[in-house]
Amino acid sequence: MDKALAVTARAFLCFQTKGRLLDAHLARMLTSPRQCRCCGATFAQLLSLSCDRPDICSEDMEVEDNSAVLATRGDILTDDFCRLGDLRFVRAVLAIPLPGSRGEEFLLGTWASLSRDDFDAYLDLFEMRETEKLGDRPAWLANAIPPDMPMPAGCVLEMRPEGQYPELQVTEQNHPLYPLQKDGAELEELLELLYAYGHDLPSLVFDA
Ligand SMILES: [Zn+2]
Repeated sequence: MDKALAVTARAFLCFQTKGRLLDAHLARMLTSPRQCRCCGATFAQLLSLSCDRPDICSEDMEVEDNSAVLATRGDILTDDFCRLGDLRFVRAVLAIPLPGSRGEEFLLGTWASLSRDDFDAYLDLFEMRETEKLGDRPAWLANAIPPDMPMPAGCVLEMRPEGQYPELQVTEQNHPLYPLQKDGAELEELLELLYAYGHDLPSLVFDA
């Protein structure tokens, strides 16, 4: 399995069924106990994936508590922050709607690269859970999604209230995530994306 996208241990708490009609195939998959061959996750669990660091950040760097970002200078990786030389990153969520599901989303826990000024302002507001005061900031997606995608995606980082992770909206129209985020992903597109990360659900699903 690709290192960058493992099933997140702490769910993003956004996986909601709103009690409306689901596309029949999608509905079956959402409740299916069948497990991915690579990681044992169910389809429902795979709807919330997470990268534990920006791609540029070495695997050797240990993840520290968030408090360490204020207590130290220099390069550091914490649960939600990363500082590498002049680069600054914060953890963010990238949501892809699933049209057949009426309300379900495919959630990617990713990292956003932002300016030093915005990073410092975000840090100041983070403790007070008032990051939404920053509004929308320009940012770059700091993980390659899909994994063979060399093009960095220009984004807007939308701050959200009450300590929620900010949300990335891809603004780079030539990036493959742009139409997925705008129009939503069909089930097959979603399975393709998961498969690109080594999660082998298609064969399980279509054998069934
Ligand atoms: Zn898997």
